[in-house]
Amino acid sequence: MRMRKLPWAEEYLQDAEVVIKDPSQLKGRWRTLVHGEKLHLEIGCGKGDYWNQMAKRYPQDGWIAIEKNVSVAGIAVRKFEQQEGDLSHMRFIWGDAQSLEEWFDRGEIDVIHLNFSDPWPKKRAHKKRLSAPAFLAQYANILSRDGTVQMKTDNSSLFEFSILQFQQAGWKLEEFSVDYRREPHEEDVITEYEKRFLSAGQPIYRAVWSRGS
Ligand code: SAM
Repeated sequence: MRMRKLPWAEEYLQDAEVVIKDPSQLKGRWRTLVHGEKLHLEIGCGKGDYWNQMAKRYPQDGWIAIEKNVSVAGIAVRKFEQQEGDLSHMRFIWGDAQSLEEWFDRGEIDVIHLNFSDPWPKKRAHKKRLSAPAFLAQYANILSRDGTVQMKTDNSSLFEFSILQFQQAGWKLEEFSVDYRREPHEEDVITEYEKRFLSAGQPIYRAVWSRGS
C-alpha cells in the first residue's frame, strides 16, 4: 500500500547528517568514512528496522541503507536519530539504486541485502525488480571478491525469477530456503514487512548468492 507523503520528510532528510547528500563524491572512499570489517548495503530499506537493528547487533561492520521513497526514508532516518551510542558505522542514501555504480567503486561492498523487494508482478515491469539483469550487473561490479547478495521475500514469483536471473548471470547459489523462519534465526533481524507476512502465516523464502569464480 502506497504511503501518504509526509510533509516533513524531505527537509528532514536534507538536514540529517547520516544522509549522504552526494554519494558519488564518496565513490572509492566509503571505507575511509564508514569503518567496519565488512561493508553491508541494504537496498530498499523501507522504514529502516533491519538497517538500524542489524547495525546495532553487528557494530564491528559498516551499514549503509538506500531508500528511494521520501516518506519511508524519513521514518528510517528518524529511527536512526532516536538511537544512542556510537553510530559512526552507519550511513543512509536517499535515492534510487539504479545509480549504484555511480556511488560505489569496484569491490567496495561485501554484502548486499534485498529484503522484501517490490515484486513488480506485471511482466513489462520485471526490469524494475532488484534482481533484474541490469541490477545484477551492478552488484557484480560493486561487490568484493567474496561478496554476497542475500535476499528474503514472501513472493514466490519474485523468488523464482531471482533464482533464474542469478543462475543465468553465473552467480553461485550458497544458501536456499523456502521456509526460512521454520527454524529460529537469531542472527538475522525480522524486517517490518517480514513481521506482517509471518503473522499471516506465510513462509519466508531466502537465498544467498556469491559471485562465483
Ligand atoms: N525492506 C523493507 C522491509 O522488508 O520491511 C521494505 C520493503 S518494501 C516492499 C520495498 C522498499 O524498497 C520500498 O520502500 C521501496 O521504495 C524501496 N525500493 C524499491 N526499489 C528501489 C530502488 N530502485 N532504489 C531504492 N529503493 C527502492
